Amino acid sequence: MPTVSPPRPTLVFVAPWECSRAVAQLPRTPDPDQVVLFLESVAKGASLPWHRQKLVLLLSAMRHFAEALEAGGYRVLFRNAASYAEGLADAAAEVGAGRVVATEGREQDMVEELARAEALLGAQGVPLELRPDRGFLATRADFAAWAAGKKELRMEWFYRTMRRQHGVLLEADGTPSGGAWNFDPDNRKPWPKGRAVPPVWRVEPDAVTRAQMARVARWKHRWGSVDAFGLPVTRPDAKAWLARFVAERLPEFGPYEDAMVHGAPDLLHSTLSSLLNVGLLHPREVVAAAEAAYRAGLVPIASAEGFVRQVLGWREYIRGMYWHLMPGLRTANALEAPLGLPRWFWAPDGEAYGPHPARADAACGMRCLADTIRQVRDHGRVHHIARLMVQGNIATLLGVEPAALSRWFWCGFTDAYEWVELPNVMGMATWGDGGALASKPYVASGAYVNRMSDYCGRCRYDVKQRTGPDACPVNLLYWDFLDRHRERFAGHPRMRMMLKHLDGFGEGELAQLRREAAAFRAAVPVDADYTAGGADVPAR
Ligand code: SF4
Repeated sequence: MPTVSPPRPTLVFVAPWECSRAVAQLPRTPDPDQVVLFLESVAKGASLPWHRQKLVLLLSAMRHFAEALEAGGYRVLFRNAASYAEGLADAAAEVGAGRVVATEGREQDMVEELARAEALLGAQGVPLELRPDRGFLATRADFAAWAAGKKELRMEWFYRTMRRQHGVLLEADGTPSGGAWNFDPDNRKPWPKGRAVPPVWRVEPDAVTRAQMARVARWKHRWGSVDAFGLPVTRPDAKAWLARFVAERLPEFGPYEDAMVHGAPDLLHSTLSSLLNVGLLHPREVVAAAEAAYRAGLVPIASAEGFVRQVLGWREYIRGMYWHLMPGLRTANALEAPLGLPRWFWAPDGEAYGPHPARADAACGMRCLADTIRQVRDHGRVHHIARLMVQGNIATLLGVEPAALSRWFWCGFTDAYEWVELPNVMGMATWGDGGALASKPYVASGAYVNRMSDYCGRCRYDVKQRTGPDACPVNLLYWDFLDRHRERFAGHPRMRMMLKHLDGFGEGELAQLRREAAAFRAAVPVDADYTAGGADVPAR
């Protein structure tokens, strides 16, 4: 009798950002010939000083998903490995896999890890099959087809294409709901004076999450505390979070999406990006929930459209642009900004961080910048206008090297991965990409911060002044920025008015502006780069 070998199982790798069946490459019901693999990579965990709450989100969501799959009858392997590549090869050998299935790398590092894994698996005679990423509505090929032959790749045109392709917020005749594609001009109100700030939402951590919080709290060379962690880490909790957002915050989200208030990381924002980007939700269901609320008359069009634009437009576009512009995007620095990242970004109050001791004289005196960084340190997030118009704006005005700022965003935010933060920083915030993504840098003076926030009234600086000992540094640096880059932006229609205003400055004031801005920049505390990473992550 010939011996029949048992079938060799297929090993299905679930990446850490594929933490539900809405995104992972898994069948609806368990396949007895499949083993589902989860990996913690020590190399990845040690590669940057990640925010501890970001690590807790990933580590806890992976564990909960693995437990849910096991309870549903799937065969699950959960391993801690030196790297993803080594982990995949070791796991394949452990289960005697006939082939390995994984999602194409979502960002450059993962592409390289999967290429290494393919070589290691090849040596075992095991093929690696890569499948398109299920965490987006547009594939990379869709974006490439849209971008082909276009001179300008503006988000607004991609967004309209996506609305048409997916039939979102459209009327029967194909026109946009509400009579316009974009209601951004309606969405620029400051937070009303005296109105209470909504609380920061929190899901009480369970035993699994608390164990990861305790584990990560011990790791050195990481940023932030775990104490305030309260994001959903399971699919049911993520769906409940979405439903609560649609019911409680979405109706007024639009008008106040650009408002900033001291001590409030979210205001009416959803924080759904952290859940989408770890795979607990799928963008299709998030967009559908917003549209359904609009159709039911529960949410005005300006709010529904503003929110849909973030998910269906911006998120998909940014991911497409990442691949369109890589690998050069990592080192882009069109404005030749030379400064290292100010220590304020890690230690807004002059506190100790990583290898650096406390220095009270190095506290950030700018109330807007210090507060928004405290929100990131304490919560692993702050909403998009604080990121763009305070943190990104001030870093750009100072002349911070875009790559240094980019690594900070990557480390510090629970929703940040290179595919999303890099194009945002290089394209929107710093103009490091030289205009591939946005036609001009998103820079503004203190007047913008004053209009959209409650920061300036109690700041030690005077937002009405642009030079002198009490002048708002955002003003000082803004006019100095325009002066330094005057020639480069002279022909830009949207910068013409501000440059004309600069032309009205007398020689004496210009000289004072240049002198004071240079002195301010020279006094910015910059420590040795904290993003070099460290190897102090315990293996388990
Ligand atoms: Fe920021 Fe200037 Fe306002 Fe102070 S005065 S909070 S530095 S914009």
